[in-house]
Amino acid sequence: MNPAKLIQSLQALKMEGNPVTTVYLDISSSQKLRNADIVVNNMFKQKKDKTFYKNLSEEEKVSVEKDIENINKYLNNLLPEGLFSVMIVSSSQADVWKVIHLGFLVENMMVIQYQPYIRPLLQGISYERNYAIILVDQGKAKILANRLGKKEELWSVVNLLPEDANDRGFGGMEERKNERRREEAVARHYKNIVAQVEGFEKDYHFDWIILGGLRECIADFKNYLKPELKKKISAEIPIDPNLPMDKVFLLVDKEIPQCRASYEKELLDKFADEYYKNFKGVVGLQETEESLKQGQIDMLLIHDKFHTKGRICKQCQYTTIHGEKMCPNCGNPMILTVDLTDELIYLALDTGAKIEFISSEMGDFAPLCGFLRYSK
Ligand SMILES: [Zn+2]
Repeated sequence: MNPAKLIQSLQALKMEGNPVTTVYLDISSSQKLRNADIVVNNMFKQKKDKTFYKNLSEEEKVSVEKDIENINKYLNNLLPEGLFSVMIVSSSQADVWKVIHLGFLVENMMVIQYQPYIRPLLQGISYERNYAIILVDQGKAKILANRLGKKEELWSVVNLLPEDANDRGFGGMEERKNERRREEAVARHYKNIVAQVEGFEKDYHFDWIILGGLRECIADFKNYLKPELKKKISAEIPIDPNLPMDKVFLLVDKEIPQCRASYEKELLDKFADEYYKNFKGVVGLQETEESLKQGQIDMLLIHDKFHTKGRICKQCQYTTIHGEKMCPNCGNPMILTVDLTDELIYLALDTGAKIEFISSEMGDFAPLCGFLRYSK
């Protein structure tokens, strides 16, 4: 599933005011997998001491206890080994149960609130990014991808180069013919790869592309790519296309921080342009939240170290970082929330804004800012 669809599916879950248990678990070793239920029980024990849990109605508490029971049942029975981590969303009262396998590591975490806690998922998606590796030589090609941290081979092909035809008798002329046949076969091969890449790009929207293969082939192949794909090439590395997938990712790994940094820099540069030149940006918690509520934000950038506690109104979703106990909007009691950014995330999703977590320094735009749909 691609990240956008995954997030949509979470957002579409109907909780109808019922408490939701969200659990993130690191199950990257068989030891961790074996102990997962103990971890869940310990986290739940801590949650029971918190005001939020104590203030739940009896009916709501029963629902959460059922969530924990189901999560443990699942962890004990159904999980295969070899996964990195898992996200489980459960609300017994709302009849919601969803499991997402993640290809990246997360910290163990349990959050009980009135909607799924999705920030760690989004942050992981932002950090891992979505990229392709294209390996080419004249006789082979492979397209690999990293999506949601999951490494996979999307496509591969072997290009059968024409055998040299009989070269007796006609000397140089036959040779030139053979040469031309070869060139045509290689050109067809490259065009075929390009068509495949374009198809995947349409579905997956790669954040960047890494080109690998024989150096001279990379240079040739690049000429066949359309400018918008060429622009996405973030690194070029000589790699033998015959190398097994895990070895390729290992080789590519050291390039990733650089690819990530330049992807983020481009986003921030674009924001600076929009903000200073076109007045199409907002900066800071208050202004960003205000614009989100009015549906003006097209893309939200949040620094990945930014957390803030706050309060939210369960009735009208009014949020505040100040201490108001009662909602100034509708007069209902406000409840504490572990991470106000999650409310901002929901506001963003509800108004169709994209969300990007940024790991680089955001300078003047820290800790969060938003691209506006229209200028101020
Ligand atoms: Zn309210």
